[in-house]
Amino acid sequence: MSKHEENDNEKQLFAMRHSLAHIMATAIQELYPGVKFGIGPVVENGFYYDVDLEQKLGADDLAKIESKMKEVVKANYKFEHSVMGLDEAISYFKAQKQDYKLDLLNDLKEHGTTVAKDIDRAQLGVDEGAKVDEVGIYSDGPFTDLCRGPHVESTGKVGAFKLMRVSGAYWRGNEKNPMMQRIYGVGFTTKDELHKQLEMIKEAEKRDHRKLGKELDLFVFSDLVGPGLPLFTPRGTIIREELNKYVQELRQTIGGGYQQVTTPHITKKELYIKSGHWKKFSEDLFKVKTREGHEFAMKPMSCPHHTQIYASQTRSYRDLPIRYRETAVVYRDEQSGELSGLSRVRAITQDDAHVFCRTAQIEGEIGKIWDIINKLNATFGVDLKVRLSRHDPDKMDNYIGDQAMWDRAESQLKSVIESKGVEYMDGPGEAAFYGPKIDFMGRDALGREFQAGTIQLDFGQPEGFDLTCNNEAGERERIVMIHAAIMGSIERFMVLVIESTAGAFPLWLAPEQVRLAPINDSQEIMDYAYQLKAALETVGLRVGVDATAESVGKKIRAGGLAKVPYTLVLGEKERESGRVSPRLRQGHGEFDGDLSVNEFAAALRREVSERASKSVL
Ligand SMILES: [Zn+2]
Ligand SMILES: [Zn+2]
Repeated sequence: MSKHEENDNEKQLFAMRHSLAHIMATAIQELYPGVKFGIGPVVENGFYYDVDLEQKLGADDLAKIESKMKEVVKANYKFEHSVMGLDEAISYFKAQKQDYKLDLLNDLKEHGTTVAKDIDRAQLGVDEGAKVDEVGIYSDGPFTDLCRGPHVESTGKVGAFKLMRVSGAYWRGNEKNPMMQRIYGVGFTTKDELHKQLEMIKEAEKRDHRKLGKELDLFVFSDLVGPGLPLFTPRGTIIREELNKYVQELRQTIGGGYQQVTTPHITKKELYIKSGHWKKFSEDLFKVKTREGHEFAMKPMSCPHHTQIYASQTRSYRDLPIRYRETAVVYRDEQSGELSGLSRVRAITQDDAHVFCRTAQIEGEIGKIWDIINKLNATFGVDLKVRLSRHDPDKMDNYIGDQAMWDRAESQLKSVIESKGVEYMDGPGEAAFYGPKIDFMGRDALGREFQAGTIQLDFGQPEGFDLTCNNEAGERERIVMIHAAIMGSIERFMVLVIESTAGAFPLWLAPEQVRLAPINDSQEIMDYAYQLKAALETVGLRVGVDATAESVGKKIRAGGLAKVPYTLVLGEKERESGRVSPRLRQGHGEFDGDLSVNEFAAALRREVSERASKSVL
């Protein structure tokens, strides 16, 4: 398919899904007179509409709405476009008692084009930057909506669809507003595509990290602690620590070596005023007042702190690059409605790191950070796509520094990308105001795209905090800072790891690596089990004993359910011979036969140190 056709297809799919939202609203209006509508945008793979309805909708209702939608499709109503004056639209929707549409229109009337940053403009029936004395209206048969389009020609042309679920959503995402019911559907051009998508969704549900997190006892939430603040159990903490350990190991072996630093979790307001965070992220900051009335904030990131360690001494060009790392929990006051499992939390563990270097060193440093990101993702079988986000030379006013500095830095980034021999997407105008960056995108086991890391150059903080080194000529020279978090957030990375492995972690991450299953609870066998456990633990393996009174068959099954990589059945024969016949978790590899305990332990230690994804036995 050509790029052009791909684009056309996407546009067509968008119009189809958007039209499905109207069709669903049409059906709902027929079935539940008096319903009030919020907004109905297109989302990934489908659409939703927010409705205010006294009755709580369940699975039966979704089936009813779906079959009503099929009638609307069959009726093949044309999508008729018209235009209404703003005041006319206000009185029209008022007469219809559509309070939410009215809220949008009144907002539009009051604030003009700056209205409603929270709402997609298509939902307001106006174009970006257009004058707002009139709005777009679309009708399909009995239903009329405020809308800008685009739609398919008529309700008969929408392909295959299915309604998926209902969830709660505050009007305009604000918890002070009424709670509405959000009905989600998916839509595809063909039945076949829809079917594939439904299979994928089923698989995704099975792998949902919130579900597996509970089943595998990795993390919990407590009402008393609060939403968005996960508590990691011993098992979950092992995974966090192992991930972090690996990243720090890579910083040492291929990153050029980082020095660990430690900085506090609360900080004076002044630091964030100087760094710009106070202005830019003010709403996201958790603020704290001291007893003397000084204002502090919980840190949303560690970068400004690291600049203060750098700035605490005069630095010679010979000392550079200086690399600091600090894995720390940072805090952001996300809206409670946005919080979800580990994907969106208020306490975020960043594997943060910063490189302070001279402009001439950018290329070498970026190359090293790239290698770390690449190695980590390759360990999980993820291939990365790359985007270079550059400045827009026509808008130099928007950026820190001069054109020459940007050109030089970007040509270094480009030459890193070229030296790696990969294709990349070019993103002119996509840079942050303080520097260009390289973004990495990966796909998980279900083919979903995710952000897999960013290497961000920063000219801003060195400027703001006056960071320099003394160069060969004895002059103070401005340096540059590189943000070098590899996982970004350990919580998000755990989501990826949990969902892509479906909880069957590679040995190095498995909270329980070996499970011992004694065939009975006789004194000799049980003693041997605990003795073996202690022996394997002394070489660094994580071992559990199934001391229940269940049969061996049940114990083996339980080990499988807990996704333990190796289960050892222990009986008289094993005790006497000192040999074991490991059973491998499904999909972890094949092994038949037996080996000595020492050979077994050595093989597992090798599997761990290689961070292998399959058994080395
Ligand atoms: Zn529309
Ligand atoms: Zn940073």
